[in-house]
Amino acid sequence: MRALQYRKVGSAPEVVEIPTPEPGPGEVLLKVTAAGVCHSDIAVMSWPVENFPYRLPLTLGHEGAGIVAALGAGVRGVALGESVAVYGPWGCGRCIKCAAGEENYCLHAAELGISPPGLGAPGAIAEYMIVDDARHLVPLGDLDPVRTVPLTDAGLTPYHAVKRSLPKLLPGSTAVVIGTGGLGHVAIQLLRAMTAAKVIALDVTEQKLELARRVGAHETVISDEQAAGKVKAITGGLGAQAVFDFVGAPPTTATAGDCAGVDADVTIVGIGGGTLPVGFGAMPFEVSVKAPYWGSRDELIEVFELARNDAVEVHVEPYSLDDAPLAYERLHAGAITGRAVITP
Ligand code: NAD
Ligand code: ZN
Repeated sequence: MRALQYRKVGSAPEVVEIPTPEPGPGEVLLKVTAAGVCHSDIAVMSWPVENFPYRLPLTLGHEGAGIVAALGAGVRGVALGESVAVYGPWGCGRCIKCAAGEENYCLHAAELGISPPGLGAPGAIAEYMIVDDARHLVPLGDLDPVRTVPLTDAGLTPYHAVKRSLPKLLPGSTAVVIGTGGLGHVAIQLLRAMTAAKVIALDVTEQKLELARRVGAHETVISDEQAAGKVKAITGGLGAQAVFDFVGAPPTTATAGDCAGVDADVTIVGIGGGTLPVGFGAMPFEVSVKAPYWGSRDELIEVFELARNDAVEVHVEPYSLDDAPLAYERLHAGAITGRAVITP
């Protein structure tokens, strides 16, 4: 089969021919219908060889959907031919976090060597992929795999973040979304579907802000050193009750902190190396700062319900498997609008 692999630290990913995998006991083989391209892969491919955590070559893609093509021994609860999406943050399935559906915070995944597909285990940007357990499959039913697959990360991650801040997002409140790309443009829609908050979106180009407005942002602001001042002005000096930073670089975490009002939640989702000082006087009273990772299995089902009700719609740029390297180049250059999706 063909697969997109990151083969050597520092080199671009390549489409290569590799053996089609066979499902071992308990595993499921999917014929991939769609795979999303996430900015986290750009970060992974920028890590230096000294502390590169995964074995190479690595088949990329941690947003996957497919048709069940073969079942390993003992697999139950999923049928051949079924259209499914993959819940990516695999855990042990037994610890208290996994029991709560929060496999993203599995207490034993690291020690057991369990990694998500595309982030350690072979990923979804291939003709076929192995899923380690049927519990990591969510039925898609009539949902279109290409338009739905980004919801497994670009939907689930902001959903988890927004859900935790719902008590703050009352009528009259303000939510700020920094970075309106793959995750951010879904976050805006989630905020509109789940809250009555005013949504202010920040990004670096007018083109990105145009998408932000199209998907429901009430106000848009160019992301620069003046941005937090503009957010303060829009909110009558109060600041926002929730700030979601989908860039997470030093300039945006600083902006995120400066946008926060009293008792606000600041959620740093982007992995750009930015941090925020916490301590008395460092920020308005009672600000909470969080840096979550992905989301839980039940939350993925909830996100799909929103998609079924047309409350979220991913803006997709489709690419063939042969063009997958181009999708990564364009993502790196900031040229993707919404989410790039590979259709092998
Ligand atoms: P993306 O490239 O699709 O979107 C990023 C957006 O941020 C783009 O629109 C870009 O123009 C904008 N941007 C860049 N610099 C900016 C700045 N200074 N101010 C405002 N906007 C700026 O990326 P994505 O796939 O949506 O991922 C977003 C971030 O979230 C990445 O850092 C990714 O690694 C991270 N991520 C984290 C998790 C998690 O669980 N914490 C999960 C998935 C992705
Ligand atoms: Zn991701």
